Amino acid sequence: MSVLIVGSIALDTVKTPVEEHADLLGGSASYAALGASFFSPVKLVGIVGNDFPAAEFDFWKSRQIDADGVQRVEGKTFRWSGEYAWDMNTRETRSVALNVFEHFRPALPESYRETDFVLLANIAPALQSHVLDQMKRPRFVVADTMDLWIETTRADLDALLPRVDLLILNDSEARELTKETSLIKAGRKIRKGGPRYVAIKKGEHGALLFSEDEFFSCGAYPLEDIHDPTGAGDTFAGGLTGYLASAKREPTFSDLRRAVIYGSVLASFNVEAFSLERLRTLTMEEISARYQIFKAMSEFESLG
Ligand code: AMP
Repeated sequence: MSVLIVGSIALDTVKTPVEEHADLLGGSASYAALGASFFSPVKLVGIVGNDFPAAEFDFWKSRQIDADGVQRVEGKTFRWSGEYAWDMNTRETRSVALNVFEHFRPALPESYRETDFVLLANIAPALQSHVLDQMKRPRFVVADTMDLWIETTRADLDALLPRVDLLILNDSEARELTKETSLIKAGRKIRKGGPRYVAIKKGEHGALLFSEDEFFSCGAYPLEDIHDPTGAGDTFAGGLTGYLASAKREPTFSDLRRAVIYGSVLASFNVEAFSLERLRTLTMEEISARYQIFKAMSEFESLG
């Protein structure tokens, strides 16, 4: 089953305490689409300008990522620049140039409208809702968000949440959204606002998953070398949703637990190199090997 993914497609400049690289492929949809494509075909929705490398379209084609929903328009692609502190977790946005992204209105090709699994990667919640408005009853909707939307477009986010099956957000965003210090209370409170399931990412400390009556916690892979944390969250969301779609059924809580592990595996590979470079060479064998390590770490033998 395919996954429809909408989000940003960007050219990033990323600085860490040891390296800096410019004009890298980035954006929430770029990471999410490649992450998901290891498990399921992807239908990508986004916008790029005429400075966007044509080779990326060839690459997407080679990876079962359908880019018919990516608008190519006159102007410059969205640009984002960020700088990481020594902990490789704290990040400051140095600059944002919305460019063609400023007037982005996602328009789904007819062939996209009946896709069963949807990932609304990080973009303004009004645009995420606009995508759902064009769809014919998707089976399972996953949404990601960020602090910017909690702070600036809260009403739009609140309107989106009841339409979402699984909301993914990080620990500080969960606290900001609920004004709770406990992540357990925060997860439960967000569920009451609409989504049936909530996943809270805790960076190098793993992730939590909440349903009405079940709870799951998994650790993160103990990586020694993190080169570029950009897109870890988007890759997590992409891997998770791609895995759910590959199960070809209404996700059970066990499917969701496995999906959280696959998302974590994909994210752990992504941060090993700048931009999407590690994901470009990643193999299913490497994913499976790391999944087994996660499985042993998380002690969830009963899943088989
Ligand atoms: P993450 O590290 O998961 O927060 O994702 C980083 C990616 O998000 C970068 O590749 C950026 O191009 C993209 N990005 C940054 N700001 C925004 C924004 N306001 N809306 C959508 N995408 C963004």
